[in-house]
Amino acid sequence: MKQISKTVQELKPSGIRKFFDLANEIEGVISLGVGEPDFDTPWHICENAIHAISHGKTHYTANRGLLELRKAISEFHALRYDQHYNPEDEIIVTVGGSEGIDLAMRTLLDPGDEVICMDPNYVAYAPAVELAGGKVVSIQLKEENDFKLLPDDLKQAITPKTKAIIINFPSNPTGGVMTYEDYEKLVPIIKESGIYVVSDEIYAELSYDQPFASLAQFEEVKDQIIVINGFSKAFAMTGWRLGYLLSSKEVSSAMNKIHQYVIMCAPVNAQYAAIEALAHGMDDVVKMRNDYLDRRNLLVSRLNRMGLKTNMPHGTFYVFPSIKQTGMTSEEFCAKLLEEEKVACVPGNAFGQSGEGFIRISYAYSMDHIKKACDRIEHFLQNHIKQ
Ligand code: PMP
Repeated sequence: MKQISKTVQELKPSGIRKFFDLANEIEGVISLGVGEPDFDTPWHICENAIHAISHGKTHYTANRGLLELRKAISEFHALRYDQHYNPEDEIIVTVGGSEGIDLAMRTLLDPGDEVICMDPNYVAYAPAVELAGGKVVSIQLKEENDFKLLPDDLKQAITPKTKAIIINFPSNPTGGVMTYEDYEKLVPIIKESGIYVVSDEIYAELSYDQPFASLAQFEEVKDQIIVINGFSKAFAMTGWRLGYLLSSKEVSSAMNKIHQYVIMCAPVNAQYAAIEALAHGMDDVVKMRNDYLDRRNLLVSRLNRMGLKTNMPHGTFYVFPSIKQTGMTSEEFCAKLLEEEKVACVPGNAFGQSGEGFIRISYAYSMDHIKKACDRIEHFLQNHIKQ
C-alpha cells in the first residue's frame, strides 16, 4: 500500500475530541465542553427550509449561493456591522465557517508561506494552514492583556514570508474581544506590511459588553481582509452547515474557483433557512444572547468565588479560567475532574501551548446544568486547591 500523505500523517488529532471520547465512556458525566448552542434552531427558520423543499427547491444553486441570500447577507452586514460587500462578486456562501477557513488558506498560500496564528486559538486553524502548505507562526496571547492582539506583538511576528494572519474575536477559547480602538492601532501595521487578515467573526453576535468591531470596517485595509462568518452560533444552526466569506472581488473570485470544484454549492435547504434567519431571526438572537449573558455572569462569579481566577470574557459562550494555583497541568486537572466529579471541560493546551494552565468551560448549557457542574467543581477544588 502506498503511504498516506506526510502532511496528513503529521496532523495531530484534535485535543477536544480526544477528551470527549474519554468522557463519553463514563456514565453520569456533566459536560461543559461542547462548542455549540444548546438551543434548537428557531422553528420559523426550520419551517422556511421545509417549505422550500416541499416546493421543489431541491436543486443546486449558483456556486456562490442563492442571490437572494447573498443580498440578505450584504444588507445585514452593512446595517449591523458597517461592513460593505457586493452580493454579486464579494460574497460566497460556504459549508459552514469551516469551509471558509480552508478556502481562505488554500487560496492564499504557496508552500512555505507563513501564517500568523494566535496562541491559544481555535483548533482548526493550524491544520488548515499546514494542509495548504503553509507554516504557522504563533503570537502568545496573555491573560493580563485580556487575550487581545497587541500591535507590538504583531509587528514582531511579521517577516518577509508572512502571507496572512488568522484572528478570531470574540475568541474561542478565551472569550476575548477587540474593540474598534484596539483594531485602529493594528491598521497601519497591516497596511504597511500588505499581509492578508483572515478574520473569523463567527461569534460576532455574541458580543456582550461593547459593540462588535472588525478590521473590515477600516476602508484603508478592507481589500486585505477576508471575513469568515456564518449561521451556526448566532442562530443556533450548527447542523445546517452554513457560513460565508466576505472579501475583495479579486480574492473572492479566486476562492470561488476552489469552492466550485470542491463543493459546487452549499446545501439549498440550509440556504432557505438562512434567508428566513436574516429576515426574521433577530429577536431569537437577542433572546439567546441575553440567556448566555445571564449564564456567563453566574459562571464567572461562581468560579472566582470558589478560587479559580477567571477574567470576564466579553464575547462567545466560553470562559477560560486559570487553574495554575492547583499546581496541576491542564490535562491533569481535566482528567481528575472527570474521574472524581464527572465534569468534562477542555484542557486549555488543546488550543495551543499558551493555553497551558487554563481550562475552557462552555456555558452553552442550561442554568440548572451549569449550577450543578459548579457545585461539583467547587467540591473538587476543596480537595485540591493549595491554600
Ligand atoms: N470558527 C470558530 C472560532 C469556531 O468556534 C467554530 C465552531 N466551533 C467554527 C469556526 C466553525 O463553525 P461552522 O459550524 O460555521 O463551521
